[in-house]
Amino acid sequence: MQVSIKSEKDLEMLRKSGKILAKVLGEIRRAVKSGVSTAHLNEIAGELISKENAVPAFKDYQGFPANICASVNEEVIHGIPGDRKLMEGDIVSLDVGINYEGYFSDAALTLPVGSINPRIKKLIEVTKKALFLGIKEARIQNHLSDISYSIQNYVEKNGFSVIREFVGHGIGFSLHEEPQIPNFGRPHQGPILRSGMVLAIEPMVNMGTWEVEISRNGWTAVSKDGLPSAHFEHTVAVTENGPEILTEYYG
Ligand code: MG
Repeated sequence: MQVSIKSEKDLEMLRKSGKILAKVLGEIRRAVKSGVSTAHLNEIAGELISKENAVPAFKDYQGFPANICASVNEEVIHGIPGDRKLMEGDIVSLDVGINYEGYFSDAALTLPVGSINPRIKKLIEVTKKALFLGIKEARIQNHLSDISYSIQNYVEKNGFSVIREFVGHGIGFSLHEEPQIPNFGRPHQGPILRSGMVLAIEPMVNMGTWEVEISRNGWTAVSKDGLPSAHFEHTVAVTENGPEILTEYYG
């Protein structure tokens, strides 16, 4: 397995890419409210990304038909934006990837639409915390699976489950690079992390069973039991000074 190492110059470009992505996500999230269609969010994202002289990395990737993924409630990932309008009590996971001058970044977050059921709120909080626990392990001399283990351990301790069929990934020169980063597994396995590796860490967490199925559009993964699912993701560089989140968004 060949994990690419980014130079300081590459990291400078990836910081720019990540900053643009964080800004875009920050703006789209403000548009999330009851009555708004996911197609509208997709449109805003497209405009913001091109205004920043970047390109939506998901568009046409293996034929994906939109700028972003917008996955509602039981949709885990790869939701295709469309006419569906968000309703009070829904949750929506927004996943955005961009290409800025050949440098790719990828991030996701799950947002509530208005007030939501406390158990669903907990699902979102646990998934977000799991991401940050995973990121904490993205340090030199750790093994890759230390990230995986810390995510699974925290999620399952809280009574939720991690998706097995989809995983995080290396990123930077392209959207998906080696290594795959599962959100499950024993600690101290896999490659040793080195300075200059850039990883898209992305826990996908189901409230019920971890099993998913692919819906009829051929893309969207939904939880098999129809219960809600949450997703958080950051692009993270492994550096001498510890993990550096390149896609940090605020608020
Ligand atoms: Mg990703």
